[in-house]
Amino acid sequence: MTSICPECGARLSGDETCQTIFEMFLSREYVDPAYGAVHFLTVACFMLQHGRYSDQAVAWMRDLLRDYLDQDLTPAQLRHRASQGTSSQSRQWKVLRAGDAPPLPKVAWSMTIADVAHQYTDADSYRVLITQWARVTLREISALQP
Ligand SMILES: [Zn+2]
Repeated sequence: MTSICPECGARLSGDETCQTIFEMFLSREYVDPAYGAVHFLTVACFMLQHGRYSDQAVAWMRDLLRDYLDQDLTPAQLRHRASQGTSSQSRQWKVLRAGDAPPLPKVAWSMTIADVAHQYTDADSYRVLITQWARVTLREISALQP
């Protein structure tokens, strides 16, 4: 039995959903720092591919992803930069997409969370795959909103 995620187009097997995979990844990242090193990317890619961000948050996250992947920021530098963008005092926009906002244009993602879930075997391959997923997501979202 396979199914297709209606939001990101992932090919899913059995009764798995992108949400259950995401939750499994997060719990692994919380208990094992070798997985947790890519936590930012996991959350950003899941949210971007499932249309959870507002237009402003998509643009903000795209810039943050680009900085992270191109400039080799450390996780600490990244957290610092991310906190500057999201502190609610300085931010005039909402991170999460409003329920009545028009949906983001559909993207035929060439890599999804299911590809990571079905291919990784240990923390090293997990980090490689999540980073690859982030590069694909960044490239394909940039094509959408230059
Ligand atoms: Zn999905």
